[in-house]
Amino acid sequence: MNYQFRFAPYRRPFKTPLRTHHGLWTMRQGIILSLQDEMGRITQGEIAPLPWFGTETLEEAIAFCAVFGGNITREQIAAIPDTLPACQFGFETAQLNLASTENLVSLPPTKFCQLIRRSPTLFQDLQTLLQQGFRTFKLKIALDTPTTEIALCQQILAALPADGRLRLDANGGLNREQAKYWLNWGESQAKLEFIEQPLAPEHFSDLLQLNAAFQTQIALDESVSQLASLEHCYGQGWCGVFVIKLAIAGFPSRLKEFCQAHQPDIVISTVFETAVGQRALLNFSQKFFPSQRALGMGDIHWFTD
Ligand SMILES: [Mg+2]
Repeated sequence: MNYQFRFAPYRRPFKTPLRTHHGLWTMRQGIILSLQDEMGRITQGEIAPLPWFGTETLEEAIAFCAVFGGNITREQIAAIPDTLPACQFGFETAQLNLASTENLVSLPPTKFCQLIRRSPTLFQDLQTLLQQGFRTFKLKIALDTPTTEIALCQQILAALPADGRLRLDANGGLNREQAKYWLNWGESQAKLEFIEQPLAPEHFSDLLQLNAAFQTQIALDESVSQLASLEHCYGQGWCGVFVIKLAIAGFPSRLKEFCQAHQPDIVISTVFETAVGQRALLNFSQKFFPSQRALGMGDIHWFTD
């Protein structure tokens, strides 16, 4: 199969820059591509790189797209190297027509996790989201001392109903002692779902030990950002949660094979894609990953457009 293809880079500013342990993120940049097959059918895909999670840069993705001069074959798509995981996702989801709205089932708010921002209106924002039906929330941590942040978390947990859940994301920013402090605190928090990536990926053996030592669930994110690292951590015995950022994990077909073979406990998550990437993510997760955990894609209020 030959495809004609076009691509267009985009830039979307965040309403308020997103602060994480990786730094301040002000602008989401990516590429929307469209493929036209030999029957004239046009499908879309999105390339949404995240270089600090080990993907290609936007410039590398643009350079890759430019090489083909507007024509690409099925074989060339299948041969996209693992060094370009966001391109693998964009081209394969376009090829599979996953960004289509055709079979998309609309999910209730309980199926989505909402990221809550630290601001003077945090508790008002939380109440609004609860009224809209959301029950799972995520807060970035490792931005202040554990004592200060735990006090904030206690307040958030107290504001949640019995079926509310809180995810905490450290983005690898805690040291071992701080992580133990958090995990120990988490033991008595029924509404705490998990702590995400308490330590940086290079401390994987410590993460394994902590996961065995505490009841508080730990999720890996930065450690498993592409399929190869996911397979590696699984092979090393990780039996906690895996956060999968589908748009940067590589070919979705390979991920599907891995998950169907091993049935890992996963959370599918966004990387702030546009509607094109989000539809692909939703379609793919509805088809292949009927996980009970809320999808990490509650980011509807984060962009100015
Ligand atoms: Mg994370």
